[in-house]
Amino acid sequence: MTQKYVYLFNDYDAAMDKCGQDWEAVRSLLGGKGANLLDATRLDIPVPPGFTVTTETCNDYLEAGETFPSDSWEQILASVKSLEEQTGKKFGDPDNPLLVSCRSGAKFSMPGMMDTILNIGLNDQIVEILATRAHRPRFAWDIYRRLIHMFGSVVMGVPDEVFEAVITAQRRESRVKSDTELDAEAWKSVTQRFKKIFKTYTGTKFPSDPYEQLRLATEAVFKSWNGKRAIDYRNASNIPHDLGTAVNIQTMVFGNMGEDSATGVFMSRNATTGDPHLEGDFLVNAQGEDVVAGTRQTMRISEMGDIMPEMYKELQEISDRLEKHHRNMQDMEFTVEQGKMWLLQTRDGKRTAQAEVRIAVDMVEEGLISREDAVRRVKPEQIDFFLHPQLDPEAVKNASPIAEGLNVSPGAAVGVIAFEPDLAERWGKEEGKNVILVRPETRPDDVHGMLAAKGVVTSKGGRTSHAALVARQFGTPAVVGVDAIEIDLENHRMTIGEDLVIREGEYLSIDGNLGLIYHANLPTVEPDIKDPYLLKVLEWADEFRTLGVRANADYPADAQRAREYGAKGIGLCRTEHMFFAEERLPIMQRMITAANDAERFEAIDQLMPMQRSDFDGLFRAMDGLPVIIRLLDPPLHEFLPSAHDLMLELTDLKLHLQHMTSLKEMDATLEKIRQKTALLERVESLHESNPMLGTRGVRLGILIPRLYEMQVQAIFEAASRCAEDGIDVHPEVMIPLVSHVGELEAIVDPLTDIAKRVCAEAGVEVPVIFGTMIEIPRAALTAGEIAGTAEFFSFGTNDLTQTTYGISRDDAETGFLVHYMQTRMLKDNPFTSIDPNGVGRLMELAIEEGRKTRGSLEIGVCGEHGGDPKSIHLCHKLGVDYVSCSPFRVPIARLAAAHAALADG
Ligand code: PEP
Ligand code: MG
Repeated sequence: MTQKYVYLFNDYDAAMDKCGQDWEAVRSLLGGKGANLLDATRLDIPVPPGFTVTTETCNDYLEAGETFPSDSWEQILASVKSLEEQTGKKFGDPDNPLLVSCRSGAKFSMPGMMDTILNIGLNDQIVEILATRAHRPRFAWDIYRRLIHMFGSVVMGVPDEVFEAVITAQRRESRVKSDTELDAEAWKSVTQRFKKIFKTYTGTKFPSDPYEQLRLATEAVFKSWNGKRAIDYRNASNIPHDLGTAVNIQTMVFGNMGEDSATGVFMSRNATTGDPHLEGDFLVNAQGEDVVAGTRQTMRISEMGDIMPEMYKELQEISDRLEKHHRNMQDMEFTVEQGKMWLLQTRDGKRTAQAEVRIAVDMVEEGLISREDAVRRVKPEQIDFFLHPQLDPEAVKNASPIAEGLNVSPGAAVGVIAFEPDLAERWGKEEGKNVILVRPETRPDDVHGMLAAKGVVTSKGGRTSHAALVARQFGTPAVVGVDAIEIDLENHRMTIGEDLVIREGEYLSIDGNLGLIYHANLPTVEPDIKDPYLLKVLEWADEFRTLGVRANADYPADAQRAREYGAKGIGLCRTEHMFFAEERLPIMQRMITAANDAERFEAIDQLMPMQRSDFDGLFRAMDGLPVIIRLLDPPLHEFLPSAHDLMLELTDLKLHLQHMTSLKEMDATLEKIRQKTALLERVESLHESNPMLGTRGVRLGILIPRLYEMQVQAIFEAASRCAEDGIDVHPEVMIPLVSHVGELEAIVDPLTDIAKRVCAEAGVEVPVIFGTMIEIPRAALTAGEIAGTAEFFSFGTNDLTQTTYGISRDDAETGFLVHYMQTRMLKDNPFTSIDPNGVGRLMELAIEEGRKTRGSLEIGVCGEHGGDPKSIHLCHKLGVDYVSCSPFRVPIARLAAAHAALADG
């Protein structure tokens, strides 16, 4: 039997048989558009008769060097015959002409593919007869000029603007403002010019043979599959290149045949809000492209209820039936031809995140889909929409970004640029301005500026850079690693390329979702986490998921927010963030630079009440839930100024000294020089070639025991006080960067003693639990030993990725890794999604060995991966108990955890 290349719209059964009753396979064979038209025809929806040339034909055509495979063209001709029988018209017959449209239709809707060509089948002879005998001269010339225009630009590549220029000139000549006012004569003269343009640009006459028009149009669709735009789009959207496109040939129906005709596009529900009413536009007496092109003022679809009540009712019925059938919101095109309704196309409608959520919930309540379906439909990334302000989509349409970076913290921010954190703070806090802090990169002592800013941009750094981490923590939109920006801090300006110079104080708008930056003051739209539909979806998600979700939070306000977003506890409190606060940093620096133990302990004791009150706030916010507090982790030098800066300051001070006239001033400066020199010596003595692998985490706790002792005392004093107030406290103390069980053994006992003594003195019962981070491969490999001392594990997947891969987390988004991603050697950035074959296997081993030693071992993940849906799937599979992520990602993690559980069946 010869291969079947063409399916009539009423060939549903044949298509299903060929595809083994698999609807997805039908979509692959006939493309989304063709499959849906077959389906609608079967449902007795009025679809103009037509047929689909399969995607296989396209692939064979391209493979054979642009030649129609075997008898495919003959099958197309036979299908045209069938259309003639169904419509009673004849292709190429001047007396009763059949006209058709030709459209591409891949499995996935794809911008960049060839568009529609309408009115195929017309020529000089037919148009004359249509104009005279059918007494429709204006209609006839109008549709003919459209054919030559579309055929010329879409099939033959004649620039569209040339055709448009003729129409504009004709309007001027006819002294009219809009195309609708142009009469038959005007369109006739436009048509003659179009034909001349066609000949000039293509070197051939416009083909008068309808079959040649059809063949060239079909071939143009096939070829457009390999057009540059289509290939780029497929690359960007991960669509395979071997799918091919189908071609849909459909009988023309006309919405421009008078006042009883119309055409329009509409959605079965509002695509922005999800409101369950028809939404769209239509025009009376027009062809489809008039609606889309925006050349005429369209009417809202609801107005059709007044103008054509019968037709509107039918439209609503069609919409309801298609929605019920597809169990999804539909995006449809229709034409009314002299009082008869025709549906031209239907597909699942694109919608905003807000609409997605509302439609999912409404459809559950309407009995169209199940709760599982609703949860599955909402993508975790879509939740971001509800958590942060977004750039107004309307405004974005007319704006172009000036640069792109990494989208590390979602949401939109708009404000004036400040290059210095102090200035950002002054403008933001004292002057109430919206500020965007722009820095080459950020450091701990920039945090006050980051906190005062609405958004953060850095020209360097990756996904786990300081800027990214802190911005995510505070829910501040951020774009980092924007390497197109050259920042000139000295002159308070930045440049992009040769020409664009932007100064401090000018406006910047940033889109943290897409990593885009605009040199503009764009409007934003506010988020709403309390959206009742979102809350419903999340509530359903919680019913399905088995993985727990906690938050990484360092301050009571973050903890409060995390709880509102559904976190069941704190999985990581990074205590070092508490020391970066402006008033605490000097004490911390005194502690580090102390000349002797007495001075050091004095500084540590000064920090103690501050720590206690931090923990107090966290426990109260998390009443009844676990709070994991990690003891100090980063290398000490991070709290100190850079040696380079200190040297410059010292040089400055010494220069000043030479010009001083007052002895008092000289004494003060000499003292300053003494202090700075001492500080510089300390900074230099703390210098390590590779501080990331140096004296940090537990190593610090062992070298300066008083530091961890102070922290543990503060934790349990706060816990005891809360317990006395009736708060249900569950502190858990976490030791960072352990690589050998000996490190834990050395410190856990003395720290446990302190904790127990504090609780005993207060006369309260508070659980005393010590656990560890697993963030060094050796810790994972020896997890069995470590679990002998540690009562819980939390995977620090940031450091675990860094140390497993041997890639610095601070340079993760630059250099060779970017190259690896661009060349697709690596599919995912390992700092964004857990590397399943490396880091994932270490985790698997650690979980297995850890639980062998201690059956009740609770295991979490608190690296940035804890909020990444792909990593969450892996964590679910590995049997992790919970993930912990920034408060703003908690709802996303809840949904992703539900998806993981549903995928698991
Ligand atoms: C980690 O390494 O994954 C982690 C959570 O710790 P930090 O990012 O603070 O080093
Ligand atoms: Mg770490």
